[in-house]
Amino acid sequence: MLGLFLSANLESQAQELYTRTLKLMGCQFDLTVVAENQTQGDAYIDLAISEIQRIEKIISSWDALSQTTAINQNAGIQPVKVDTELFQLIERTNTISQLTDGAFDISYASMDRIWKFDGSLTEKPSPELVAQSVVKVGYQKIVLEKANQTVFLSEKGMKIGFGAIGKGYAADCAKVLLQAKGCIAGIINASGDMNTWGQQPNGEDWKVAITNPMNKETAFGLLPIRNKAVVTSGNYEKFLILDGERYAHIIDPRTGYPAKGILSVSVFAPKAELADALATAVFVMGVESGLDRINQIPGVACIIIDSKGTIHHSEDIEIDRKLSNHLNQER
Ligand code: ADP
Ligand code: MG
Repeated sequence: MLGLFLSANLESQAQELYTRTLKLMGCQFDLTVVAENQTQGDAYIDLAISEIQRIEKIISSWDALSQTTAINQNAGIQPVKVDTELFQLIERTNTISQLTDGAFDISYASMDRIWKFDGSLTEKPSPELVAQSVVKVGYQKIVLEKANQTVFLSEKGMKIGFGAIGKGYAADCAKVLLQAKGCIAGIINASGDMNTWGQQPNGEDWKVAITNPMNKETAFGLLPIRNKAVVTSGNYEKFLILDGERYAHIIDPRTGYPAKGILSVSVFAPKAELADALATAVFVMGVESGLDRINQIPGVACIIIDSKGTIHHSEDIEIDRKLSNHLNQER
């Protein structure tokens, strides 16, 4: 979600930075590339857009014709043969589920039927209903058959959804494609979930600002990022309020209830796909277990803002002085 915004030195080298903003995968994408001229910049951006649209077609649960929909429709009925790309994506999501003790789990999606974030829910689902639904959740029940490249949701009523990883995956794919086409630098930013490569035309690193979720107008500070992804999961954009309680759109797959205790998590990682999944997982795991897990993964760092507004960060985060001072004051 919108946890971050970009700071680029737009004035001094305006002729080399080309940007476009548009809606893709149901959210705002800001595409930035460094190119020699407008024609080349436009061509790069057009390529990125078609790549993101291609991925949306594969992973969308709304599209009646997507392979993901076919998997869901055949839950408890039969395995579905899918393309290598989707098969491998699900292999990786299952690995991340193992890595996060099931906090990240694409089969959380059967809970979509009872936790609706479109304003239609007027009262809390009963504990019985939550209990009945949560038995359908469990990545261990996603059966992958490598030889035939099939995916089988082994129980009726199971469902998968890529809401917590799709934008990150799309950002990675667009980056890889543009790099292969010779684009030296850019940012694929899906509403705060982004991957970057190269540097600004003035030779400086791209910089991202961590927004204060308690007050969206203020940023804590700028962090330089080089050839890295950063993704923020936060409940301050998409949530629901029932009986005066605020519920995040991230569900704890173990309990079937929305996760509590954290306002936002920003994860820095080599790939946006991993950062995206881990941000969701840390949200579910909570501050202590989340930080503990992130500290065990090389090359990955995170900043967590808990529901009291306190900032926590992993051990190896590179932070500039401004943010560092802020973090120290908060501790
Ligand atoms: P954001 O939308 O803030 O970027 P996330 O990347 O965390 O946040 O994605 C949240 C979305 O992921 C939810 O709207 C839902 O579609 C899906 N989701 C919710 N809980 C889980 C979970 N425990 N594991 C995997 N996906 C989840
Ligand atoms: Mg995520």
